[in-house]
Amino acid sequence: MRERVREIRVTQRRTTDILEIEQRSGSGLWSADIALVRGQGSTIWDADGHSYIDCLAGIAVASVGHANPRLVRALSEQAQRLIVCPQNMGNDTRAAFLEKLFTFISPPLTRAFLCNSGTEANEAALKWARAATGRTKFVAAKRGFSGRTMGALSLTWEKAYREPFQPLRYEADFVPFNDLEALEAAVTEEVAAVFLEPIQGEGGIHLATEEYLQGAERLCRERGALFIVDEVQTGVGRTGQFLASESSGVAPDMVTLAKGLGGGFPVGAVLLTDEVAKSMPPGGHGTTFGGNPLASAAALAVLEEIEERDLLSHVSEVGTRLKEGLESVGSARVRAVRGAGLILGLELKEKAAATIAALRERGVLVINAGSTVIRFVPPLVITREEVDEVVEAVGAALTE
Ligand code: PLP
Repeated sequence: MRERVREIRVTQRRTTDILEIEQRSGSGLWSADIALVRGQGSTIWDADGHSYIDCLAGIAVASVGHANPRLVRALSEQAQRLIVCPQNMGNDTRAAFLEKLFTFISPPLTRAFLCNSGTEANEAALKWARAATGRTKFVAAKRGFSGRTMGALSLTWEKAYREPFQPLRYEADFVPFNDLEALEAAVTEEVAAVFLEPIQGEGGIHLATEEYLQGAERLCRERGALFIVDEVQTGVGRTGQFLASESSGVAPDMVTLAKGLGGGFPVGAVLLTDEVAKSMPPGGHGTTFGGNPLASAAALAVLEEIEERDLLSHVSEVGTRLKEGLESVGSARVRAVRGAGLILGLELKEKAAATIAALRERGVLVINAGSTVIRFVPPLVITREEVDEVVEAVGAALTE
């Protein structure tokens, strides 16, 4: 056992070197000295045997909990049957996944393109927007995050991610979030699409108002641009609705998903209207691994868990409990609590790093969202009791 722990540490150190490169160029706070080796539900263990309540979940990914039996069984059974199938041929598991997915999604979104990550989903959405409109400009929001490949990076606001790679693929105008007047000025007749997150995740947990999303959709319709909602972080039940944008009653031309969709297995998707889907020229887009049977089995298992365990109601209940718990902490160091369901941000009046470290000491893993916001994105299956433990730990960490 000792040998094993040592081995893990050696591997961990190598990983850490890579993450440190990332830390120097970005704004994330990375825990360079921790190696996570095992998980169960909302609990995760490090190489030294310490356990944590996982309010990080691989950054909003482990939706149905670690080592979820249905997900593990689905992956293992599918792996023994068929792992790969190209996108231009049919597959029973992929078909079952898509059928289930569209029980959660309403028309006019009736088509899906499957890929492997959030940035790939946004990359594909950018191409579809160009194909459908013949235009090349985009509008995105300040503090928005769309990914790190060259197209998606064009719509990612944080300068530290973007500027070293200028010139980027697409011309993008960044407008202040929730400011309809600014959007009105930016959406000209040259704009292919407006990209918005319903809750800015990386940008500090800021919620779009209903009026803003509705106004954005209206402007897009008036000016011939597409309205694209990035639900990579907020989708698949994280807010207590399948899509966070549902409650504002908008009907986007495309929605992008990833993170929680595969429960930890890499799965991304673009949901499209029929009209937009058909605008892509033959062979215009595709990917080798997208929608492979293993990924589809994982995503199907996640959707079945959400449905059969009524996780959307559960998220609403425990999300409210966590939000109210964080609000009740009542520390003078807290500026605000924001979010919906299980995507919550605790904004401090100081840098978040010390409190994040203190929470780790108390057995709670969290991550920042910007320098002063602590982000809580636990598995959707987190229990009431675990939520109460998290709140207690936050109270204790803030009175240290
Ligand atoms: N879009 C949003 C809203 C995200 O939060 C992220 C990742 O954090 C991405 C896109 C990029 O996703 P990925 O890291 O899977 O490429």
